[in-house]
Amino acid sequence: MSDAATLYDWQQRARQLDFRNQAFIDGKFVAAASGKTFDCINPADGTVLTAVAECGEEDVNRAVTAARKAFERGEWRDMAPRARKLVMLRFADLIDSHSDEIALLESLDVGKPIRDSTVIDAPGAARCIRWYAEAIDKIYDEIAPTPEGTLGMITREPVGVVACIVPWNFPILMAAWKIGPALAAGNSVILKPSEKSPLSALRVAELAAAAGIPDGVFNVVPGFGAVAGKALARHLDVDCLAFTGSTLTGRQIMKDAAETNLKRVWMELGGKTPNIVFADCPDMDAAAQAAAFGIFFNQGEMCTAGSRLLIEASIQEAFLGRVMHLADAMFPGAPLDPVTRMGAIVDTAQLDRVLGYIAAGQAEGARLRLGGERVLTDSGGYFIAPTVFDQVDNSMKIAQEEIFGPVLSVMTFTTPEEALQIANASPYGLAAAAWTGNLRKAHQLARGLRAGSVWINCFDEGDITVPFGGYKQSGNGRDKSLHAIDKYVEVKSTWMNFSL
Ligand code: NAD
Repeated sequence: MSDAATLYDWQQRARQLDFRNQAFIDGKFVAAASGKTFDCINPADGTVLTAVAECGEEDVNRAVTAARKAFERGEWRDMAPRARKLVMLRFADLIDSHSDEIALLESLDVGKPIRDSTVIDAPGAARCIRWYAEAIDKIYDEIAPTPEGTLGMITREPVGVVACIVPWNFPILMAAWKIGPALAAGNSVILKPSEKSPLSALRVAELAAAAGIPDGVFNVVPGFGAVAGKALARHLDVDCLAFTGSTLTGRQIMKDAAETNLKRVWMELGGKTPNIVFADCPDMDAAAQAAAFGIFFNQGEMCTAGSRLLIEASIQEAFLGRVMHLADAMFPGAPLDPVTRMGAIVDTAQLDRVLGYIAAGQAEGARLRLGGERVLTDSGGYFIAPTVFDQVDNSMKIAQEEIFGPVLSVMTFTTPEEALQIANASPYGLAAAAWTGNLRKAHQLARGLRAGSVWINCFDEGDITVPFGGYKQSGNGRDKSLHAIDKYVEVKSTWMNFSL
């Protein structure tokens, strides 16, 4: 659609959508073996979009069998990297040429603003697939410096059948971060999207097949975590499981893997990002914009959400005033309206969870400065006003636990040491940010912050070329960049003896 598309245009387009709502196994759309379906709800108005196949253990078994057979056949695994690259480039091109449709599916399914899904989710997924496609015929293996008369070869081989379990906040983008490197490395993949957001994955599966990815190499099993997800986590023929989701689920998946076949598990989990603003911040406007964007973008449903704002005491009120002014402008609206900057919360469970945290913040004595309630109830949708608490203590629930909603917890500090201590006093370590014009302080913080991504005088910077992942209970391994490929390959050491 053109840049000038209106709410009406998007609504018209939504009415014409033909949802893919069956599982995609071995190159075909199929109903769940049980015949069961679950409703896919539009969080903007509470209506049912479509009923989607509810995969169970039998469907997971079918998908794993198809993936294993495809892997053993070797047509994808053994394809020359440059040929695999061409198929994946076609796949990326097809995502690009269906970008508006995929963006619309995301906005309908999870309530995110169309202005974001059209520029971030769909194009980001295509860019990711393209980047790994282009990488795969440029990665060389190694020869070790072994003694004369021997050859020590270090080669990478695809790990085999890879299950990818992903969340709903960026459904196709989070999937792309996993299927991009996993497919590029020659694996067979089974993707389980969240039960809250299955639509884009199913449409993209069809595009993968159209691009020439062989049957069985890429499968999608929509269904519930406790059934379809668990069946993948416990499956004896899944070699590797790449997970993005909550720390609680990650812990369960690790247990399931440990109790079964010790499949390799990679975890991209929750976060509680501290965003530290010093009085010597070089650009207060930019820092305030970043603080508001950092927590209210994507309705706060961000693993990197800057949910803990640490302000130096001397500038607390002035800086918070700027942030609240910007927050007011992010009042939610219809996700398909191109002017909307904050959309709907994904479902009623998440709505109740966020409202529960707001109640906990008040009960624990934090001061509610903005929002704090459900709004736009007449729409039938699930909207929460941008919410700001100050006078928060880092030991409170709203400072320690991931809310995954538009709720900001504001704290103060007086020294860099105190800021660092508060920032690191968290079970999470996904990301952290600091704003200061003092180079020495910036460097000390960058070194001291226990987080996988540190942003100095910026927030939520990212690029497919740069790894992304967490310290502590935010996970292990890294998505994005060439480092991600390590998750989907085995490293083989081959010794050759030439002295006989
Ligand atoms: P979730 O853990 O509830 O679900 C994630 C996925 O796991 C879904 O597909 C779900 O169906 C599945 N699942 C649930 N229980 C399962 C089980 N027992 N076995 C196997 N699979 C199971 O998380 P969510 O609510 O979908 O997503 C929000 C979470 O994701 C937040 O914690 C957020 O921080 C995290 N997240 C992390 C990153 C990152 O890169 N670190 C990115 C995005 C989101």
